[in-house]
Amino acid sequence: MFTTSNPVAGQGCRWGVSSVGTVSQEHAFKAGFETRAIHAGYEPDEMTGAVIPPIYATSTYKQDGVGGLRGGYEYSRSANPTRTALEGALAAVEEGERGFAFASGLAAEDALIRALTRPGDHAVIPDDAYGGTFRLFDKVARPWGLEHSPAPVGDVDAVRAAIVPGRTKLVWIETPTNPMLTIGDIEVLAAVAHEAGALLVVDNTFASPYLQQPLTLGADLVVHSTTKYVGGHSDVVGGAVVVRDHEVAERIGFHQNSMGAVAGPFDAFLTHRGLKTLGVRMDRHCDNAEKVVDFLVGHPQVSEVIYPGLEEHAGHALAARQMRRFGGIVSFRVTGGEQQALQVCARAEVFTLGESLGGVESLIEHPGRMTHASVAGTDLEVPADLVRLSVGIETADDLLADLDRALGGSGRE
Ligand SMILES: *Cc1c(COP(=O)(O)O)cnc(C)c1O
Repeated sequence: MFTTSNPVAGQGCRWGVSSVGTVSQEHAFKAGFETRAIHAGYEPDEMTGAVIPPIYATSTYKQDGVGGLRGGYEYSRSANPTRTALEGALAAVEEGERGFAFASGLAAEDALIRALTRPGDHAVIPDDAYGGTFRLFDKVARPWGLEHSPAPVGDVDAVRAAIVPGRTKLVWIETPTNPMLTIGDIEVLAAVAHEAGALLVVDNTFASPYLQQPLTLGADLVVHSTTKYVGGHSDVVGGAVVVRDHEVAERIGFHQNSMGAVAGPFDAFLTHRGLKTLGVRMDRHCDNAEKVVDFLVGHPQVSEVIYPGLEEHAGHALAARQMRRFGGIVSFRVTGGEQQALQVCARAEVFTLGESLGGVESLIEHPGRMTHASVAGTDLEVPADLVRLSVGIETADDLLADLDRALGGSGRE
């Protein structure tokens, strides 16, 4: 058996990275990504041999005498075996020391912020941060005394300049960003953060751990909305924090239990089930996105295609270095202005009109009126003629035909 008596310290298991120390240590055995995604965090149940972690719908656990916990389980806010399995798998795929599963991406972010900052501290955040992240920093954390400064993640000097010496505790980035798909240099920004005594946090939702592992590039913490690619089926809301350092992990774990916004066992089960197929899904998302990009680049109704895989994308070389592939999100601008962008969204049929991303089904949206409506009139306003696609894993030809129809035709012979 490779499980340990402490459910929250034993996440590494035989398929993961070490359950003690840091990921920089040499390990005798580290399985490949897909093997870790499928096996890490769980060994077939000793009593039944169940190959998949059961949904432990229990709030409490029988003790063998006072304090005689079986496997460390005491109460399900603190730990639940279904969640422990997911957390172990998350740590293994991100090559972190420990993973923590939360009720949503924002719950994960909230726990991270409150675990690692105090009133009077300061954070640097992306100037085009995910809207909910910006709202959390601006409307929730700031009134409690955490100041923040926005900076463009693609500009190292601007990020460095936004740091307040002695006060900045977190440098928070997303890469690629939403919806303009700007790329931030994780390795360089980690060094910039560390020089200032701050931690680098990477929201890895858009890339997913299959395409990018920020902890291996020097980041200190990764956050996820597992609602997106990790869950992958648009059927569960969840979040995660994965941590590189033991000390920091202790603080996150303490806050996860103290604040209590944990993933329940049903949600943890679904998220874990999604994670197992992340590798094959992401490859198909990328295959289809590349085909969509090729199609859109030659389309007479399209004025610009934004995708890090394109050589003309400002972050292309960097993305090629730090990502396995370029992801499933594609943004493009149309020649006919906002009206045409809205029309494309309305006409698409295989692409479902909706917010969110990362599920098996393709989604289309108009950032200016939907996900990014709240930044209209500010520096962060997105072009009105912009359309964002979350390219799903349907038959590629159907996606191209749908886009062509939505654009008014003439994109294919
Ligand atoms: C969706 C999302 C979040 C928030 O996650 P929820 O699960 O919706 O709370 C955070 N960051 C990014 C990049 C997202 O796309």
